Amino acid sequence: MTTDLDQVLDEALEQQRAAGLYRRRRVQDRPQQPEAIVDGRPMLSFCSNDYLGLANHPEVIAALQRGAERWGVGSGAAHLVNGHSAAHHALEEELADFTGRPRALLFSTGYMANLGIISALSGRGDTVWQDRLNHASLLDGALLARAALRRYPHADTAELDRLIGDRDTRMIASDGVFSMDGDLAPLPALVLIARRADAWLLVDDAHGLGVLGREGRGTLDHFGLDADQVPILMGTLGKAFGTFGAFVAGSDALIETLIQRARSYIYTTATPPALAEATRTSLALARREDWRREHLQALIARFRTGANQLGLPLSESPTPIQPLIAGSSHQALAWAAELEARGILVGAIRPPTVPEGSARLRVCLSAAHTESMVDYLLDALAALQPAAPSDETGDRKP
Ligand code: PMP
Repeated sequence: MTTDLDQVLDEALEQQRAAGLYRRRRVQDRPQQPEAIVDGRPMLSFCSNDYLGLANHPEVIAALQRGAERWGVGSGAAHLVNGHSAAHHALEEELADFTGRPRALLFSTGYMANLGIISALSGRGDTVWQDRLNHASLLDGALLARAALRRYPHADTAELDRLIGDRDTRMIASDGVFSMDGDLAPLPALVLIARRADAWLLVDDAHGLGVLGREGRGTLDHFGLDADQVPILMGTLGKAFGTFGAFVAGSDALIETLIQRARSYIYTTATPPALAEATRTSLALARREDWRREHLQALIARFRTGANQLGLPLSESPTPIQPLIAGSSHQALAWAAELEARGILVGAIRPPTVPEGSARLRVCLSAAHTESMVDYLLDALAALQPAAPSDETGDRKP
């Protein structure tokens, strides 16, 4: 039986490889930083979501160490059993303050938070509208809820408005910053549509928090929206905040409901309390140190100016996520391999993570990069072989 299983799986894996869709892990041998050691080789990395350069900050490391001395390592149980420590509790209060909402609730990961929110707040017979490019965890949340999942064309609020019509809608969910495109969701228009449709608006601001807005309060602050307009805000802690985990912020009723109903909250072990201590420190640094956001914005501008001058297939993105659309998976892989040969690591993102025909290099900038690192990347991009003529990128360079 085992042989049969392996044979079937091997054939499927081989097909995936032939289609340029095989994914492989690389072994990192250093803490998160641009100057990485990858599979034993020094590389300059543009792949990390550590947007503010906090993952490896001495104060955050020290907070984790002190936290381990105070709390040990494991939390020992789920939050509702006896895993909810004063460290978790204090972090939740600080996240509520940060987001300007009455309460916040920690989840072990962003993936689990999205599953938990949507399945706790919707069910069979409810309709949940989602942007076509939403993160997989939002889509999976609606599937888990057994709600009717309807997707609207990316950022097309006129079409969403038309599609919703007079239909009964429970919830509209959107990334705040799209994870593979770096563009911002049209949140002001989504707020109006949600209000008209009497639907709850959920924004997953995994890539906006820490990066955009005053003190890094994210995409909502960028647009000047307040908590009433977006009643359900989800954020992750493993990106700009440099640690791990996620949270939901909202009203007392929302948080109490999630505590009672969200299965991905109830049935899992709480993250280590020491981690909460580390996040308290990184949150304070992220709020306080505006220079990180300013430096990051300067790097984004430098990269975009340089990439435009080179005629690279750049998308509209004001964030550290700067995709270069290759078209086919093979083309994206070929470009990534060329960069790798020059000691630069950039992720080749392919279907199903992005739609068919829109495989890309996903350049991720961080406040930990220097200007000369960005210039080095631009030099390497300038030397890329142009896309094959048959490719969907047409005759655009590279
Ligand atoms: N939402 C978005 C938009 C994301 O990009 C990610 C992570 N890639 C998640 C949710 C999941 O967060 P986590 O990694 O904490 O599970």
